[in-house]
Amino acid sequence: MWDLIIKNGRVLTMESEKEVNKAILIKDGLIADIVENSIAEKLDARKVIDAQGLVVMPGIIDCHTHLCEYATQGVHKTVGKSQKMAAVSNFLDCLKSGVTTLGEHILGHPILSTSIQELKEVACDTALTVKFATGTCCVGTEPLAYTSSLRPGESLTADDFDDAHYAGLAVESEFPGENIFITATVANLPPHLVPNGGKAILDKEDVSRIVNIFHSLGKKIGAHIEGAENVQLFLDANGDVIHHGHGATSQQYHEMARKNVYLVATPHGGTSSSPNTPEEIYKALEAGVTTAITTDAYLPVHPEAVGMEGIKVVGPADLFKICKPTFEYLRDRGVSKVDCLKMITINAAKIMELDAEIGRISPLKKADIILCKGIPVFDFTDTDSVVMVIKDGVVEIDKS
Ligand SMILES: [Zn+2]
Repeated sequence: MWDLIIKNGRVLTMESEKEVNKAILIKDGLIADIVENSIAEKLDARKVIDAQGLVVMPGIIDCHTHLCEYATQGVHKTVGKSQKMAAVSNFLDCLKSGVTTLGEHILGHPILSTSIQELKEVACDTALTVKFATGTCCVGTEPLAYTSSLRPGESLTADDFDDAHYAGLAVESEFPGENIFITATVANLPPHLVPNGGKAILDKEDVSRIVNIFHSLGKKIGAHIEGAENVQLFLDANGDVIHHGHGATSQQYHEMARKNVYLVATPHGGTSSSPNTPEEIYKALEAGVTTAITTDAYLPVHPEAVGMEGIKVVGPADLFKICKPTFEYLRDRGVSKVDCLKMITINAAKIMELDAEIGRISPLKKADIILCKGIPVFDFTDTDSVVMVIKDGVVEIDKS
């Protein structure tokens, strides 16, 4: 007896370029097998979903978000215990949009004091898989404003970050997110409040030392970076994941591919520089860089972002919208739809070191599956067209 069978769907496994018309057999939260529909007809299951006409694909992975900290105060205006309620509300928006796994960032906040441990417990009680990256943050105000996930609710200075502090971050971090800021962020602030946005705050020696601390503790490290010079600092130090990387050169994409350094692109904004253009993302993929696109939610759209007219702030429900200009550019250059969608599934899983478990539809992967009225981004960008969300083999959202 199977727990769940999804039959007759247009299945995008992410392993083949083409959709296959097959049935997915699910047991104990895992994909057990993918078989012909005629075989599935003869099998017994507790629940059968007829996905006739629907696209069936892996749950979406958004590997760079700030939904527990900045987006609770910024969007919901919560400042006390209700920070946790706001986080859950944001998580639900993700699930309803087809996102089943999140790479969440805890970087400390000057006025929000909920500990990362409490936030992890909140995430555990939701249907989502949430992995947490810990880090320090530097906002480009005058003077620079520092925070750290190790000291929530405190305003810090650069002097607070010694090697022991970085070691503490490395121990707690669950994936290479924005663990360090090589350049000060503009955060969600208007330009006049962040005159130091984009300023390099770590030098070559600092970056090498911190990367070595993470590596010596067996952890990969990611960094918030803009500007080719600063990207080079991180590459020279043998860092692992570049977040944003706005302004990286074609030569650097080749170096990234050679060194197996991954790119987390935010084509809508996130730094003081012009964000990753569709052409740059194409160049990164062509060079062979494992690249994901993420919302960095919540994040306002940069004035120079390509093709983002009509979007002001990007939240958890906007991932398909911000992918559209890039995916269309890639399609025009012959990249398959499946290869485009890898940037919000399997590539994001690789960056989060979860690709053994999620990101494709194949035997023994988690049964994190969405059913859609067409191919996301290409056929629709609204989240109502994601009609069903299955997490760990259980139907969690059913809009059918
Ligand atoms: Zn971020």
